[in-house]
Amino acid sequence: MAQAIAHGVKTLGVLGAGQMGLGIAYVAALRAKVPVLLHDRSDEQIAKGLKLMDKLLAKDVAKGKIQEIEAKEARDRVTVIESARGLVGLRDVDMVVEAVSENLALKQSIFTSFSRELKPESILATNTSSISITKIAAATIPEGETSASELGKASASRVVGLHFFNPVPVMKLVEIISALQTSTETLDRARSFAVACGKEVTTSQDVPGFVSNALLMPFINEAIMWLEKGVATRDDIDKTLRLGMNHPMGPLQLADFIGLDTCLAIQQTLYQGTGDSKYRPSVLLERMVDAQWYGKKNGKGFYDEIKCMFNAPYTLGTEVLRSARAGSEAGLQLPRIVGLASAIAGSKKNSMSFVARSVLFAAASGCRSRAAFGQVRHASGSQRVTYKWEDPLDFEGCLTEDEIAIRSTSRHESSKHKGQRFDASILPEMGAVGLLGPTIQGYGCAGVSNVAYGLIAREIERVDSGYRSTASVQSSLVMHPIYTFGTEAQKQKYLPALAKGELIGCFGLTEPNHGSDPAGMETVAEEVDGGFVLNGSKTWITNAPVADVFIIWARCKWDGKVRGFILEKGMQGLSAPRIANKLALRVSTTGSIFMDSVKVSHDALLPGGKGLGAPFSCLNSARFGISFGVMGALEDCLHNAHTYAQERIQFDRPLASFQLVQKKLVEAQTEIALGLHASLRVGRLKDEDKAAPEMISMVKRNNCGKALLHARTLLDILGGNACSDEYHIGRHVANLQVTNTYEGTYDIHTLILGKAMTGIQAFAN
Ligand SMILES: Cc1cc2nc3c(=O)[nH]c(=O)nc-3n(C[C@H](O)[C@H](O)[C@H](O)COP(=O)(O)OP(=O)(O)OC[C@H]3O[C@@H](n4cnc5c(N)ncnc54)[C@H](O)[C@@H]3O)c2cc1C
Repeated sequence: MAQAIAHGVKTLGVLGAGQMGLGIAYVAALRAKVPVLLHDRSDEQIAKGLKLMDKLLAKDVAKGKIQEIEAKEARDRVTVIESARGLVGLRDVDMVVEAVSENLALKQSIFTSFSRELKPESILATNTSSISITKIAAATIPEGETSASELGKASASRVVGLHFFNPVPVMKLVEIISALQTSTETLDRARSFAVACGKEVTTSQDVPGFVSNALLMPFINEAIMWLEKGVATRDDIDKTLRLGMNHPMGPLQLADFIGLDTCLAIQQTLYQGTGDSKYRPSVLLERMVDAQWYGKKNGKGFYDEIKCMFNAPYTLGTEVLRSARAGSEAGLQLPRIVGLASAIAGSKKNSMSFVARSVLFAAASGCRSRAAFGQVRHASGSQRVTYKWEDPLDFEGCLTEDEIAIRSTSRHESSKHKGQRFDASILPEMGAVGLLGPTIQGYGCAGVSNVAYGLIAREIERVDSGYRSTASVQSSLVMHPIYTFGTEAQKQKYLPALAKGELIGCFGLTEPNHGSDPAGMETVAEEVDGGFVLNGSKTWITNAPVADVFIIWARCKWDGKVRGFILEKGMQGLSAPRIANKLALRVSTTGSIFMDSVKVSHDALLPGGKGLGAPFSCLNSARFGISFGVMGALEDCLHNAHTYAQERIQFDRPLASFQLVQKKLVEAQTEIALGLHASLRVGRLKDEDKAAPEMISMVKRNNCGKALLHARTLLDILGGNACSDEYHIGRHVANLQVTNTYEGTYDIHTLILGKAMTGIQAFAN
């Protein structure tokens, strides 16, 4: 028997005789020369594993890598603990390495048993490739003890992550992961043991995926998304990485090797563990796993029978669509979606926008429901639904595939901007991917649902309410009135350029003396020879200083009715100075508008709308978007506060461990979930033309008020750091004060709803 060495492992236990467990037993017995007790719940699996071990040893002997005697000694060091003996058979090991499948619940129950059955000083290591070691360690706290009791602390402190790589005998690395509870001694001994097994060692914090998979898996996932989007073929993606970057194999081939189910499980862990959209698993990957295409392990992956399908260039009318049509059991309206994609793409397939590609893929994947995240399948086959705090009421599950694709594209695009300053490039960038005027049919617009429009607003506002304001004004307050009340000539002239973000628009309703009561409007239009003359002023107008197109609402002298006019930058008598030193929405530009006898021709009038109902219909569309948008801002606040609360230690504990802090987080999350579902309902009704304006008032009022209230409360979690924009919450709070004010203040919407309930208007006597 080997003498005690720095790692102190005189006997090693290995649980799980699959590829990984067997590989670990192999290097421990051969290189560290430590006796190994190998256990698996299936004797058949153990027999299979040992056969493989014999084969590997014989191969190494044949290659002259080891002597025959070394092979024999190594093989003799491995003893099988039959399944019937259970974990009791591992009672006296100095270290155990668990190598079962990637399932948190399973690992937790195993570690609870380890803590009960194994001697108290043995190191408990897990070979997980992505699951939180801290969560696993917490499962070892003996019944009746707590995380703070001496026994509880001692038990959890011996848990460590020992991440070997496949194939274990060949791959040089072991990644060591320290749980929050892991002691230095455990870490040092684990490191020393890995070195004794002939490995190089790196150390990672206990973050989802650790260093290795947190970097590798998003890369693979991104490659699958590129394939999904049709950026390149399978072969070109892999070849680019092999020949251009000297990778031994391309990401898609590597995914097949790792196993697509494993890739998906790790990516889901990253997505759920961080709550960060950048880790959203590719829909294609989900679908392949749904189809039980796991890659090399069962012969179906990116490189096999399906290659014809996925190696085709991604264009309309190819195999992909034929397959989708044939395989579509979910009833997605393919022609509608293809029509949408074509509309966005125009006649040039190569210029198809991301929205179009995403949507087209959604059609091609032919399914409506997404793979259910967070579901743990029990051996019996029944499913226990686990709670996902980031999406407590499964909002995502209520969206269609095309909405999810649009949401992802918006999130991806928005995340490029940081929310620090006005960025003139943002509208053209949004235009390029179809995010402007998205509900409009034709004129270069995407023609998507109102729900999709809400999702776009949510993603943009997750970055900054100012960017969303810029986009909302363009879509709902400029493009919408031109589309709804304009002539065909006006639509042709302005909409395509506004959709691309080549022209910037603004909407002038509010005046210095009339905000909440636009009926008192003082700006007037007078009919003169050859057109109209406008006089008056507007204030607090988003985009005004940079606008090319001005939608101005004015009272018409000839009949006293309010009508809209399209003015253009540079007209004589028109000026739009910037309002400087704004405290909020700093990334959007806001100004006043002065009209001193601005003369326009007859074709500047929007003929289809008369009376205040016309601007109010624009506001309804914008208000609906705001109701979704502010939830995005609050979500960003919550995620930042949540991370901060877990990392910041006070009184020797993370802030997240204090009840008052948890209350703040829970209340914010509850309001996000309720707010999103309420807006979704209104959006669905709007899509069916069944939404009353009061419904929009309700979600605008509720969501703005709740976002402001809870963002403000979450700000407290930052303590002094609330003063820094590093954590963004303070900026969101300032912005949310404005969103609670514009497009009808919180109180004005209260009065609108109060009037609807009582029949009595309370605005004025
Ligand atoms: C950054 C920013 C961007 C904006 N962008 C635009 C834009 O692009 N286009 C545009 O037209 N406007 C825009 N606005 C203007 C915005 O819509 C108005 O500020 C808003 O409607 C409130 O009007 P007000 O500021 O005149 O406030 P007021 O109407 O003076 O109200 C002040 C307060 O009194 C309360 N109040 C008013 N009347 C009543 C009542 N009857 N009963 C009880 N309480 C009442 C209000 O709720 C509020 O709390 C923007 C504003 C800001 C700050």
